[in-house]
Amino acid sequence: MSRNKKKSSGGFHHSKKLGQNFLIDHGVVEDIAIGSQVDSDTLVIEIGPGQGVLTEELAEYAGALIAVELDDRLIPYLRTRFALNDQVEIVHGDILEIDLEEMIREGKSKYDVSKVRVVGNLPYYITTPIIMKLLESGIPFESITIMMQKEVADRLIAEPGTKNTGAITYAVQYRCTVDKICDADRYCFDPAPKVDSVVLRLNLRKEPPVTPENEKFFFQCIKAGFMMRRKTLLNSLTALNSLDASYHFGKEQIQSALEECDIDSKRRAESMTMEEFEKLSNAIWRQR
Ligand code: SAM
Repeated sequence: MSRNKKKSSGGFHHSKKLGQNFLIDHGVVEDIAIGSQVDSDTLVIEIGPGQGVLTEELAEYAGALIAVELDDRLIPYLRTRFALNDQVEIVHGDILEIDLEEMIREGKSKYDVSKVRVVGNLPYYITTPIIMKLLESGIPFESITIMMQKEVADRLIAEPGTKNTGAITYAVQYRCTVDKICDADRYCFDPAPKVDSVVLRLNLRKEPPVTPENEKFFFQCIKAGFMMRRKTLLNSLTALNSLDASYHFGKEQIQSALEECDIDSKRRAESMTMEEFEKLSNAIWRQR
């Protein structure tokens, strides 16, 4: 048996590399299906169906469901399990590589549904890349409901400017409002992971809560601020120069922008509200 695989009671060899911790707590499965707000006018894109426990529950509510699974060993099993449900499609592929836009366009016209919701209990190491891929795709999802490690959920749900804030907090809350659906401790899974989990629903906003003059630069300021999160803003924001070769911001320019916004230069990025980053990024941008 490979180092990455464990034998489960059902005889399936879970791949650690693919983050295969399958849900065995039906209460959590139900909470996700209800919490994701799927209805008969919804196309669900499910990421990582595994053996289909969540797929089956979601399919009861959804107009249609397309499940994307990377592990080829699971594909025949899933296709057999849902063979009698012509509203469920199993796609073999990597969610990070797949052309989601095309998949959704075809799915919407084939199944005649107007809304798209993404749902997934996926490997923890792809939580952030997946969320960012989905949010930056510009595809008008209604929501993204995802199981994630509790520490990541704490960051996504944190009020910007409070203890658990990270760069991802602003990236997600700029585009979404966030609702907690449920907790899932490690014993809800087979095999049990080392960490506890939380399910969040990210609801895409129609409009962002702030309107920075230059959105890309707004996010670069946040990124620079958190690259060395223990440093003061005056020091950490000079890291902006490492994000674009055309930037040559000196400390005097950053100091002057901080003063213009009435922000103490000794503060740290994690203390900044979304509105403060908006004002500050505008002020620094004007210093070029
Ligand atoms: N949804 C199932 C459940 O709740 O029992 C399985 C969850 S398991 C945590 C994650 C699933 O995602 C596995 O089946 C794994 O093979 C699949 N997976 C891992 N990486 C993937 C990727 N890049 N694209 C699609 N599926 C992936």
